[in-house]
Amino acid sequence: MACAACCMPTEMLLTPNDLTRIAARGVPLDACTIPSPQYPGLRVLKNVKGRCYFLKESRIGGPHACSLYPDHPTGCRYFPLIYDVDKHRCIIDKRYCKHYRDFLAMASDSTCCKALERVLRDELRVI
Ligand code: SF4
Repeated sequence: MACAACCMPTEMLLTPNDLTRIAARGVPLDACTIPSPQYPGLRVLKNVKGRCYFLKESRIGGPHACSLYPDHPTGCRYFPLIYDVDKHRCIIDKRYCKHYRDFLAMASDSTCCKALERVLRDELRVI
């Protein structure tokens, strides 16, 4: 991961499977996640000093790294593909991702969008 703009800060919702994978790493969930301010009963990644708890410090000029990789959360795997609840469809998040043009095809890929919608509907129950 060279950019990590989406990890500084993160707002990522966590599925039950995400929480299980994080707990299996031996990290207490209270240390690295907080209750979702938007969705009661769900948790999101915690930020420490404006960046995801799991984002490793970069060396000067070096790449950032996710210390959860390859067990990073489902939503992080899809990003910058996100679901716009107002538009009821998948979009590419241009707010955080300066490389968003490289990912525009994902938003029109119905396989990617349906897979993300399944996670949001069946695992998180937010749509
Ligand atoms: S878990 Fe990893 S990929 Fe996801 S926001 Fe944190 S550092 Fe970034």
